[in-house]
Amino acid sequence: MNDDIQGLGGGTQTQHDQHGLWPKAETVEDFRRNLDTVHARIAAACQRAGRDPASVRLLPVSKTVEEARIRLAYEAGCRYLGENKLQEVSRKWEAMADLADLKWSVIGHLQTNKAKLVARYAAEFQALDSLRVAEALDRRLQAEGRALDVFVQVNTSGEASKYGLHPDETAAFLRELPAFPALRVRGLMTLAVFSAEPARVRQCFILLRALRDRLRQEAPDGIGLDELSMGMSGDYEIAIEEGATVVRVGQAIFGARNTPDSFYWPAEPDAGTAA
Ligand SMILES: *Cc1c(COP(=O)(O)O)cnc(C)c1O
Repeated sequence: MNDDIQGLGGGTQTQHDQHGLWPKAETVEDFRRNLDTVHARIAAACQRAGRDPASVRLLPVSKTVEEARIRLAYEAGCRYLGENKLQEVSRKWEAMADLADLKWSVIGHLQTNKAKLVARYAAEFQALDSLRVAEALDRRLQAEGRALDVFVQVNTSGEASKYGLHPDETAAFLRELPAFPALRVRGLMTLAVFSAEPARVRQCFILLRALRDRLRQEAPDGIGLDELSMGMSGDYEIAIEEGATVVRVGQAIFGARNTPDSFYWPAEPDAGTAA
């Protein structure tokens, strides 16, 4: 069914060059407007790809955003937020514990010594890429009497510096995961190459979807691969054309970040605005 998507969507550009044009959201109205804009673009991308907009979840990413503005986003309707760094999000968990229905997705690399925090406070973890972390998380989750939705992160850009499993290692990794019953595996996650060339970005998304389609045939019982978390502010429309079910969007909702992206993941030499 998706075979013609690439042709249909071939003209969609990245928006990395929009960086300076993402204004800082400072009121509830600003957040409503930005969320409306992103939802409209999601719907348009779905229409180009012949997909149901309800099949794509928007995960707003609030890293670097301070508590006061996160509360405005909450007022504008955000109930699920993505954060990259444990040190940062654990402060926010404490500060916003009063927002009982606000859930958090950890989308960045995890060190085993922080597994306890994720097991206690996170609703989802999208960056699983080692058995050590799987083991630590599972043990902490069992101690908490909880289960956690997880995504396996795959490095589709081939950049040695990026986190995630090599695509060729992913099948063997998935075969180990039934040993960790508190991890509910939902799918795969990736970061595309940060490039202004849409064809190179799209290639990363195509790779993840093809890998998922192939692994789904052989995945062990209980290992779900329905979800594809791919696409961010600069490239989420391309990701949707290629099958994303979760898009992680920060700057297009909250406004451009001052912190360089290289703080969260290493940038490519041609990354332009990333540095
Ligand atoms: C920050 C981040 C995003 C969102 O990036 P934006 O450019 O703000 O949309 C997506 N995924 C991960 C893993 C991130 O760290």
